[in-house]
Amino acid sequence: MKTLYEKKVVKFGGSSLASAEQFVKSANIIKAESVRRYVVPSAPGKRFDGDTKVTDLLINCYNQSVSSGDWEATFDKIEERYNDIIKGLGLTTDLSGEYAIIRKALAEGTTLDYTASRGEYLNGLILADYIGYEFVDAAEVIFFDENGKFDASYTNTVMAQRLSGKRNAVIPGFYGSNPDGTIKTFSRGGSDITGAIVARAVMADIYENWTDVSGFLMCDPRIVDNPRPISIITYRELRELSYMGASVLHEDSIFPVKIASIPINIRNTNRPEDAGTFIVTSTDGYKTDDIITGIAGKKGFSVIRIEKDMMNSEPGVGMRVLKVFADLNINFEHIPSGIDTMCVVVNTDDVKGREYDIASSIQKSVNPDHIHIDNNMGLVAVVGRNMAGQPGTAARVFSALARKDINIRMIDQGSSELNIIIGVDESSFTRAIKAIYKEFCN
Ligand code: ADP
Ligand code: ASP
Ligand code: MG
Repeated sequence: MKTLYEKKVVKFGGSSLASAEQFVKSANIIKAESVRRYVVPSAPGKRFDGDTKVTDLLINCYNQSVSSGDWEATFDKIEERYNDIIKGLGLTTDLSGEYAIIRKALAEGTTLDYTASRGEYLNGLILADYIGYEFVDAAEVIFFDENGKFDASYTNTVMAQRLSGKRNAVIPGFYGSNPDGTIKTFSRGGSDITGAIVARAVMADIYENWTDVSGFLMCDPRIVDNPRPISIITYRELRELSYMGASVLHEDSIFPVKIASIPINIRNTNRPEDAGTFIVTSTDGYKTDDIITGIAGKKGFSVIRIEKDMMNSEPGVGMRVLKVFADLNINFEHIPSGIDTMCVVVNTDDVKGREYDIASSIQKSVNPDHIHIDNNMGLVAVVGRNMAGQPGTAARVFSALARKDINIRMIDQGSSELNIIIGVDESSFTRAIKAIYKEFCN
């Protein structure tokens, strides 16, 4: 088929490559356009509700290798998953040598990252064989520095050079290598990042991210039934939504493509006829009446509330409070504050068991009247480029929640007016998202 584009990078998520049947759908999509030249596969995902992703099986395997030493049965299951795919596709690919290498590594005490990365590696070998594309090991083209940080510039140089002479290639997602050559993975869902890195390196016209939903939906389909799809969204809006839990696309996959202004198109492998969502730098020229673009949320936050009379007239209090968190190596999410109070919102996992350290350090540093730590908060982000300069949006959010008797524990609105963040009790989290969706999208 002829398209507007000359070069596409296509990433297929776990569900798109979970079984031979899904492989066939993905391969048909690749073959439908010869410009789909560079392919980034994930590891096989869930085939049905209750199934286990291969990455999770590999992680279990690693954990068993360090705890009981009983990992072989789990690895048998992994081999079975791949062998089923190979057989189902009618291939003769022989992965027995590869399995033996991984088994040997596990027996000799390899790392978690190496083990987890093998899901993508093996799937990449099968896919490359099936579609007849060259396999390029991500370990040879994606690099992390000595601090474990992704080395964007070196990676881009090496990958661009390596792929420049190749008409087609399969590059497995999720991992790269450390300076000493050992394997390192991105965080979970990281194949999205690999796709974006490849798109930048080959200067693709578009990065297609194929998954199991017809694009980015206005909110999580597991919370609201059949939410409306978003047809176009900016990188900045998407990052806000992904960061706040809309898990379709890894939040860090925006950076490589944003630098090169490459649009991302989220598509559904099971419904390739749907246009999906376009993620772009600017939506100039594209008019929409929607005030909000999407809603996302995450549970598991804690609020540390610091009260001190006349706090606002004492210079440096905020800085000293934040220094306590920096010294304890705790990231903060938000810092809503009032005249005599300052709240620091953090991930509960980061503060669990360290409440005493935090409170005593703050006590020493700013001598407050009162410190209170409150757990079980959910944050809901209402995101929309059209909220700026549109009076009454926040009021509509608040009244929608009030009508459902939902108490708002925190409010934070960035001055760019791109989002409004609301803290609610975890028990009313789902109801809050439903109420806001209903207010703006029905
Ligand atoms: P893949 O395995 O293809 O990378 P993911 O499971 O990482 O796919 O992401 C797709 C899933 O994200 C969907 O199946 C859906 O359940 C979930 N999801 C959460 N929020 C949203 C949203 N706002 N729009 C679409 N999907 C969402
Ligand atoms: N397979 C990895 C995971 O499950 C990476 C990915 O799917 O993007 O997290
Ligand atoms: Mg994913």
